[in-house]
Amino acid sequence: MRLIEKICPVCGNTFEVDEKLADRKLYCTLKCCLQAGGERPEKVGVQA
Ligand SMILES: [Zn+2]
Repeated sequence: MRLIEKICPVCGNTFEVDEKLADRKLYCTLKCCLQAGGERPEKVGVQA
């Protein structure tokens, strides 16, 4: 799997996600996702 660097739209942190998820709106942490008024918080950041 390849990782793509993304920037969290809430806090501006950079984080990495699987490229398959890279076109989705993602947040660096669950907290940011919730702050954004989040959809479902199940896809957050990268799975080890
Ligand atoms: Zn964030």
